[in-house]
Amino acid sequence: MLVVDQKSLSPAVVSPVRPALEGVSAYKAGMTLAEAGRLAGRADLSKLASNENLLGCSPKVADAVQEALASAEIYPDPYCETLRAAIGERLAVDPARIVMTPGSEALIDYLFRAVLHPGDSVLLSSPTFPAYGIFGGCAEARFIDVPRLPGFDLDVEAFKAEAAKGPKLLVLCTPNNPTGNAMTQGQLVDILAVTPRSTVVFVDEAYREYCLELDVLGALNEWGGTWVSGRTFSKAYGLAGMRVGYGICSSAELVGYLDRIRPPFNVTAISQAAALAAWNDTEHLECTVALTIAERGRVEAVLDAMGVERTASAANFVFLRSPAGAEATAARLLKEGLIVRPTPVPGGWVRITIGRPADNDRLIAALPAALAL
Ligand SMILES: *Cc1c(COP(=O)(O)O)cnc(C)c1O
Repeated sequence: MLVVDQKSLSPAVVSPVRPALEGVSAYKAGMTLAEAGRLAGRADLSKLASNENLLGCSPKVADAVQEALASAEIYPDPYCETLRAAIGERLAVDPARIVMTPGSEALIDYLFRAVLHPGDSVLLSSPTFPAYGIFGGCAEARFIDVPRLPGFDLDVEAFKAEAAKGPKLLVLCTPNNPTGNAMTQGQLVDILAVTPRSTVVFVDEAYREYCLELDVLGALNEWGGTWVSGRTFSKAYGLAGMRVGYGICSSAELVGYLDRIRPPFNVTAISQAAALAAWNDTEHLECTVALTIAERGRVEAVLDAMGVERTASAANFVFLRSPAGAEATAARLLKEGLIVRPTPVPGGWVRITIGRPADNDRLIAALPAALAL
């Protein structure tokens, strides 16, 4: 048999991709149910690793999706007019200032590509959502990281000092993923007050439905520069599988630029219908958010009784320090059928989504052994 050495056939190995990609790692998603099932050898799993809403989306979504399926041969509305009108109306924002995207991670991608030249600076505060590093890295940006304080609150003074220097892009995530804590209105206003209007501000509000006290739009409007507030149907609305997010932008002009980068038909007709039905069912949203917050309190009370270090989460997950280490705790919980997210944050920090009451019961029962040294 003739064995062909593939390498000997190719000329000198030169990577076909831009060098910037060599420094970027692909997003590491939480374990899928199939993967976890294989590893744990069981099918009765609670998926508490990706901050999905396990209470599910509005029951009205099913009918809307069924109806949209009847026209699957037709391209979707490239501008999501109906959905943007509905969102704009409730938020009292001109729909021309709203851009719909297939998940808000796509919004981050489009915005970063639209505004960043190679070498431009991105100011952020880690630990935070990895997408900023990934898309900023792909855009060949330079990062200015002002690490969070020991309890994971923003180091507001240090952040302000960097913001005042006028980075090209300033990124804030509130409530922050993975730490769960939110910034205060005063902190946001103070940071914006020193930020030049030449800086583009992106505030990631993926968990805003769980923390309505903060008026991010008000603060950004008041500031008056170029900004985007990123939001999603993936978390509180329970539609992560449908991939719908949106950005509220400082101007219709900015939406116009994002429209140049955005593939036109990237939010499917089925996803648009699902999001509209979910958006209109405010009662369902309120019920799931209230139940999630109550359940979060129940889990937190157990953690406190055990003396476990945790942050004050304003989102649909808890962020806690495991004396056993993050990976060991995740592995032990997986054996019990619970998928959680170990994080690389030094000290053994684990992020655990608040699930349905029965999921949380399981978690509470399994935690003592999973966290023990
Ligand atoms: C989940 C999440 C997103 C993105 O979710 P999409 O499903 O892409 O809408 C964005 N930002 C943060 C902080 C998140 O946690």
